[in-house]
Amino acid sequence: MENTVRLNNSVEMPRIGYGVYQIPSSITERCVRDALSVGYRSLDTAQCYGNEHAVGKAVKASGIPREEIFVTTKLWGGRGYKDTVVSIDDSLTALGMDYLDLLLIHEPTGDFHEIYRAMEDAHKAGKLRAIGVANFLEKSYRSLLETARIVPAVDQIETHVFRQQKAMKTLLADHGTIHESWSPLACGQNGFFRNPVLKEIGNRYGKSNAQVGLRFLYQQGIVIIPKSTHLERMKENMDILDFELTQEEMARIKALDLDRSMFGWW
Ligand code: NDP
Repeated sequence: MENTVRLNNSVEMPRIGYGVYQIPSSITERCVRDALSVGYRSLDTAQCYGNEHAVGKAVKASGIPREEIFVTTKLWGGRGYKDTVVSIDDSLTALGMDYLDLLLIHEPTGDFHEIYRAMEDAHKAGKLRAIGVANFLEKSYRSLLETARIVPAVDQIETHVFRQQKAMKTLLADHGTIHESWSPLACGQNGFFRNPVLKEIGNRYGKSNAQVGLRFLYQQGIVIIPKSTHLERMKENMDILDFELTQEEMARIKALDLDRSMFGWW
């Protein structure tokens, strides 16, 4: 399997990235530099995480050419077209970059049709290589499709072994939108790191629960962005390419689906 997915406008996006939600801005630069040093080439931040600036600093300090790193951020709290134009420039300034690889609307609030229209124009102007959404479930996703001139390249939604989003996965695939998982480790909820099914399967390959849960998503073509502040775990979360789950193992993990949020947001 390739290490990148091709978005609907032919931009290549790494299938494994590094998320920085809830990493305090004071340690984000160190964490992102660590993540880049162990091989991550995709970073997922957001305006509301308060650490875009630190992510940008880490990218610069790494010495890795900007075009080799795929940077995603997300718009927070926009109300309409004009707000969004300003907000995109604010993110570019915070990150110290002149373009983003991917910009997402963080959640389907406000006049998201108008917010998206401004993103489409910024895409045309060359500020955004790709645009998409996050937390758009069926109703909001379908509603956006009615007015969008550009089909969202990505929808980033809560997806892990306990919430597998089987119906959304099909809907997104039908329209050519890449399914990206947030909280691919369920952020440890519901005993994820102790789950006996993941453990028993992992023992067969010498892999941890984290690696089995990530591999389960990866193997279905879902983009993953696990977060860790620990170097060893960052490495562990990338080290999922040397084993393959069998159909029987996939089926056992599919049966863990509770089909509900572990966080109660979307
Ligand atoms: P994850 O599912 O990535 O889990 C992160 C948690 O698991 C942390 O507590 C981390 O602790 C721990 N952890 C990570 N790796 C391991 C490991 N190998 N073994 C044991 N524990 C581990 O949760 P997130 O909520 O951070 O989701 C990932 C990313 O998704 C976010 O960082 C963000 O970029 C994005 N996201 C987007 C949302 C949206 O609304 N669009 C919402 C939520 C997340 P430690 O750091 O101590 O290692």
